[in-house]
Amino acid sequence: MSTGGVVMKFGGTSVADAEAMRRVVNIVRRQWESQPGGSPPPVVVVSALSKVTDGLIRTIECARSGDVAKAGALVDELRERHITIARSLTTHQRAEDLVKALRAQFDELGGMVASLAKTRNVGLADHDLVVATGELASSRIVAAAFQEHNLPAVWVDSREVLVTDAEHTVAVPDMKATCAKAGKVLAPITAGGELAVLGGFIAATSDGVTTTLGRGGSDYSAAIVGACLDVSEIQIWTDVDGMLTADPRIVPSPRVVPHLSFAEASELAYFGAKVLHPATILPAVSKNIPVRILNSRQPANPGTLITSGASREGHLAALACKRDVTVIDIRSTRMFMAHGFLRRLFEVFERFKTAVDVVTTSEVSVSVTVDDTRKLDDIVAALSAFAEVECEPKMAIVSVVGDRLHDDPGVFARAIVSLGQIPLRLVSQASSRRTFTFVLDDAQVPEAMTRLHDAFFNE
Ligand code: ADP
Ligand code: ASP
Ligand code: MG
Repeated sequence: MSTGGVVMKFGGTSVADAEAMRRVVNIVRRQWESQPGGSPPPVVVVSALSKVTDGLIRTIECARSGDVAKAGALVDELRERHITIARSLTTHQRAEDLVKALRAQFDELGGMVASLAKTRNVGLADHDLVVATGELASSRIVAAAFQEHNLPAVWVDSREVLVTDAEHTVAVPDMKATCAKAGKVLAPITAGGELAVLGGFIAATSDGVTTTLGRGGSDYSAAIVGACLDVSEIQIWTDVDGMLTADPRIVPSPRVVPHLSFAEASELAYFGAKVLHPATILPAVSKNIPVRILNSRQPANPGTLITSGASREGHLAALACKRDVTVIDIRSTRMFMAHGFLRRLFEVFERFKTAVDVVTTSEVSVSVTVDDTRKLDDIVAALSAFAEVECEPKMAIVSVVGDRLHDDPGVFARAIVSLGQIPLRLVSQASSRRTFTFVLDDAQVPEAMTRLHDAFFNE
């Protein structure tokens, strides 16, 4: 049974500065006031301030190259930015306590970065510990801002709640252990009528070693916490009006999609709709919890509601694109594909822990796309033991997504016709029949997306 509460996640731009944080305070207050009496206060999950995670990653790069001075300057800049915002949001003793905590946090970061720059040996565990600073700091400030505005709030170190494996930078949550901790740490706070405020993205192993859930992972944190607390809604507050019919950085004036199914939202997120971390929907599905995407600058707008089934007029939900992927063509060195070829082939990707997105086959060849090319050289070497391999970088996956795509066989034809003369490298339709994917030259993405969008959404 749902407890009736909500989890509200605010992304980096929604907590970018003091003004944005004041908007967050108002949004949370309004949410709480609008809830029926007796329902628990919201749990608030926040990202690092806008661009802070990028800044921390730059700091790591400086440390790796031994540039102590530059790394130190970056830490100083981050410290000042946080303290300035903290001072403008809080007063008196609360301001002093907050600034003291932030100073300690960034001094610790400075020490860590300086010693890493000395050895120039930065492991993935160090990486996670450094980037965690962003969410630890932002969540402290937001918790203090709530208190300053007379909202009872308790800051929670997310590492006391979210438990993951030790796959640093892409850790996988242990839901059972996390839910047990959420019950112990978060539930008493909300039961006591207080807002729990925690940083997204960061977690810890069962031994307490800091981990992170992958870039954009705060959405995932919110969904994990929401599922554990069995809330009635998971809200993702961001800088756009909801899931749009296409990436607004590529297609001019896309429209808001009012309603999506879990499956559609998952597919769009997986194929590049950055507004949602691809894993966000999993915990929501497990407890059938609606997810809502909302704009923190336009809080009265309805946003996008994601539930188990969506109703809509057209066949399509939205377009998505995943840019800068690499196509790998793998040709069997025998005349035709012997059985066992596919097993050997995919075993290579498994060995190098590299996910494959699109797969197409012909009699003698298999083509796949990969997004993560860190192990590409090793993969090519291993595949070359039994196949001819060719790689083509700077490609992109353009996807057309909708639960009812298959209701009308004409949809595929319209998509192809709209793409006109744009060369298509690979074409596929997954068995879910919810997505058509086209792999094409990355440089053609704006043209391809705009043509598809015109064909399907600007009728
Ligand atoms: P946050 O910091 O709030 O997590 P993100 O930058 O991670 O925000 O995600 C929001 C951004 O996702 C938008 O500003 C937009 O540029 C991008 N985006 C890409 N595809 C879509 C889409 N289909 N709908 C909405 N936003 C999208
Ligand atoms: N701050 C982290 C990132 O920039 C997590 C997030 O914002 O969701 O990737
Ligand atoms: Mg995000």
